[in-house]
Amino acid sequence: MKATRFSSAKPVQALKPTKTVSLDEDPTKASDALPLPLHLTNAAFFTLFFSLVYFLLSRWREKIRTSTPLHVVTFSEIVAIIAFVASFIYLLGFFGIDFVQSLVFRPSPDVWISEDEEEENEFFLCKEDARKVPCGQALDCSLPPLAPQATIVTAQKVFDEKPVTVLMEEDEEIIKSVVAGTTPSYSLESKLGDCKRAAAIRREALQRLTGKSLSGLPLEGFDYESVLGQCCEMPVGYVQIPVGIAGPLLLNGREFSVPMATTEGCLVASTNRGCKAIHLSGGATCVLLKDGMTRAPVVRFGTAKRAADLKLYLEDPDNFETLSVVFNRSSRFGRLQGIKCAIAGKNLYMRFTCSTGDAMGMNMVSKGVQNVLDFLQTDFPDMDVLGISGEKFCSDKKPAAVNWIEGRGKSVVCEAIIPGDVVRKVLKTSVESLVELNMLKNLTGSAMAGALGGFNAHASNIVSAVYIATGQDPAQNIESSHCITMMEAVNAGKDLHVSVTMPSIEVGTVGGGTQLASQSACLNLLGVKGASKEMPGANSRTLATVVAGAVLAGELSLMSAISAGQLVNSHMKYNRSSKDVSKASS
Ligand code: ADP
Repeated sequence: MKATRFSSAKPVQALKPTKTVSLDEDPTKASDALPLPLHLTNAAFFTLFFSLVYFLLSRWREKIRTSTPLHVVTFSEIVAIIAFVASFIYLLGFFGIDFVQSLVFRPSPDVWISEDEEEENEFFLCKEDARKVPCGQALDCSLPPLAPQATIVTAQKVFDEKPVTVLMEEDEEIIKSVVAGTTPSYSLESKLGDCKRAAAIRREALQRLTGKSLSGLPLEGFDYESVLGQCCEMPVGYVQIPVGIAGPLLLNGREFSVPMATTEGCLVASTNRGCKAIHLSGGATCVLLKDGMTRAPVVRFGTAKRAADLKLYLEDPDNFETLSVVFNRSSRFGRLQGIKCAIAGKNLYMRFTCSTGDAMGMNMVSKGVQNVLDFLQTDFPDMDVLGISGEKFCSDKKPAAVNWIEGRGKSVVCEAIIPGDVVRKVLKTSVESLVELNMLKNLTGSAMAGALGGFNAHASNIVSAVYIATGQDPAQNIESSHCITMMEAVNAGKDLHVSVTMPSIEVGTVGGGTQLASQSACLNLLGVKGASKEMPGANSRTLATVVAGAVLAGELSLMSAISAGQLVNSHMKYNRSSKDVSKASS
């Protein structure tokens, strides 16, 4: 058995100084002092030992037969006894020392790993692919120990067939120093140069510090290098969210299987039913109206007059070309589309809009804006830049009328005509009831609630689920879910015209979480993974249409369920399993 199999970062034999290890693993050994090679010396002692046993037993038998007292010994018997004792000591010293030491010294459990444990681990490693239970269980710290921990093996299914993570003696020291606050948790990745080991150490330290177990939050099976400096700091594991598929969604003549990451029962099933209704109706059509990400810095002047001067300068068409050249230097893909300004006293809010190719574009637009601000500083040296993001005027991750009215990211409208018999047979309702419900719920009801962009049944449900599955920024579901759902009876009242208008869908297929393995697989399923080779921006635009198409399906299905009085029943069926919840919580 090779000890190195258990280590992800460092050979385990360093922890087992008294173990026999192969010569090529440990070049300096006590056995080097022997006159013969080790295996020959061992063979000689074995032969000698068993020959002597045989000789002494036969002499003993002979003495019993001839009634000779046992203490009367010949010279050859004395020599044999001495040689027997010597060979016994050699063999015990060689093969039994670990056993004797384990009895006598009983080493600290955080340093040593027994042969049995090692074999168990070996067996476990061989079996790991057959395991269904995710990892982290060996790190179960429901009662966090105060004394040094035993060697910690996170026993889980592993990522790209690497060995499971083992925390070793020196890791124990690092864990202790993180717990003591001597080593900052955030510095583990840079100190160790091994993101997974850093996550395992941080996780263990966290469990000890909080006294709370992270068992159930997997550690193994994730590429921690891929999130470093991009997606998540100080990771201790990852949350698993199931991905369901709704579809095929027939949209602009193409079929899409829509991945939805959610833990809300009914949502995928409902969206799937909407997709079916759309498919049977010949599909939906989605049109992209606008594609521009925004950033709105705020600057301050000594007077409102100076703020107004800059506003006029920025909005003068004659200056646009110069400004766009400066802005566009930031990226091959970021292209300035326009600047809109708003004044509050002597403060000026400048809303820059630019196309961003296949990226969602926040970084790209921020870089371009920074270029322009630096440029403006020459002509407006009294301009005081208060922030690259003027908060409510961008407006990122907040409900704001500016996004609802002006749009942010991709603005789309998506429609379908659902024949009356599809409404009856698939959606189990009628055109008339749907139209009436939409008027009273999504339009009047939302108006009564003072909704801002929320004239829909549950757009954010679908937006969030697709965003999580495809690596979008889930916080942007706020403005991305702005949606007005319209329903009208057409074709002399027989059929239903349904549409969703969504002005602020903020999606990308490059950058951020889109490059992570799972999210990238979901983008691949939609045929929009990464940057579009043919036409930069085509992938992210297609993704925006898919989001709107899926919202259309979701709106159709939920509205139908409400109008047919099925909502509570279906939620009882899909949201409430018959599992004993009290057991789960314990
Ligand atoms: P975001 O602006 O959405 O935060 P990033 O700026 O992090 O995204 O990622 C975009 C990066 O991807 C940029 O470095 C850009 O040059 C690169 N890139 C490559 N191909 C494309 C493309 N087709 N569209 C947009 N960006 C692309």
